Amino acid sequence: MPMIPFRRTAKRWYRTYREVRMVALALKSPRHPVLAHIVVTRRCNLSCTYCSEFDDFSKPVPTAEMLRRIDLLAALGTTVITLTGGEPLLHPDLETIVQRVRRHGIIAVAVTNGYLLTPERIERLNRAGLDHLQISVDNVRPDDVSKKSLKVLDQKLRWLAQYAEFQVNIHTVVGACTEHPEDAVTIARRAVELGLVSTAGIVHDASGQLRPLNDEQQKALDEIESLSKPLFSFARHNPWRRNLSRGLPNEWHCSAGGRHLYVCEDGLVHYCMAQRGYPAIPLSQYTHEDMEREAKVKKTCAPYCTVFCIQRVALLDRLRENPRQAIAQLFPAQRAEARGARVPVAIGALRSLFAPSRTAPSGRFFRKAALRILRIE
Ligand code: SF4
Ligand code: SF4
Repeated sequence: MPMIPFRRTAKRWYRTYREVRMVALALKSPRHPVLAHIVVTRRCNLSCTYCSEFDDFSKPVPTAEMLRRIDLLAALGTTVITLTGGEPLLHPDLETIVQRVRRHGIIAVAVTNGYLLTPERIERLNRAGLDHLQISVDNVRPDDVSKKSLKVLDQKLRWLAQYAEFQVNIHTVVGACTEHPEDAVTIARRAVELGLVSTAGIVHDASGQLRPLNDEQQKALDEIESLSKPLFSFARHNPWRRNLSRGLPNEWHCSAGGRHLYVCEDGLVHYCMAQRGYPAIPLSQYTHEDMEREAKVKKTCAPYCTVFCIQRVALLDRLRENPRQAIAQLFPAQRAEARGARVPVAIGALRSLFAPSRTAPSGRFFRKAALRILRIE
């Protein structure tokens, strides 16, 4: 199965264009879900002991029903859909679902434990138009807690590096492997070595709440962050995670139920995977009024929340409402300059766009043109 580098590069550029547009839409309007997670099957072929999001018996959601739900999310204006589970690759028509997501112009993401990946399946996902695949790898060798191990999955990662035309993100959770915290660093290094993206989360309990890291785990997290490139990385410049890893709460508003939706296998809308049961309204009856109301609800779980993908959405809203403050919080310039750190390219661009006092006349022209292209003026 020959990999055509040109096709991979072309797809990467087109994906980047669509992602910039997604960000522009989020900056322009607060009235649509930026991100939705939707369960395609609750069943999983593994049974990690820390996981509360799977069973070993559920049937896949029927394909016709899945396509209807994708259409409903599109009608609400959703810009990114993540297909999740259980294990999504257990759905026999996953590629048909991915195609429907893409047909609506929505960014298609899937999460997997990787066990069922083969070169043929990767090729099918390429053809369906998948944009991103996230694989969680928990440890270097399988243990009683998790079998999502580098030793088992390394061949799958090599196939992905060779054949995938979508972006592959290897996600490790610091604190998940309590016996060997250094495993997370080994996994992140392997991802970088293969040219894949590496991100790290912090272990949480079943309700998405922080479990504080010890010194060794904190060191592992810092080391993983230092592997990221100087381009902007939310993982590296995440003010929420900086606080949480030190056991400190965050002050932020979670707009789940509006800007983020989690649709379970029964077709009900919940705030997120960790807060199922609220508001639990059928997606087919979920309206813009529901979104507006639920987005405003103050979530008591927010201060110690570790659901970073939803914080990323909140960051976009902060950028829209108070760009200067958001950028200052995201990348404290004085602290960075004192350390002699390089300002990431994307942060520099954001500063140009949102910090008028810093810009010369030529900069103002650039800002105006960029805002027009992004349609946020
Ligand atoms: S592979 Fe994922 S869904 Fe399956 S049990 Fe482990 S954490 Fe849960
Ligand atoms: S703060 Fe929001 S994202 Fe975090 S656990 Fe609560 S509802 Fe979920």
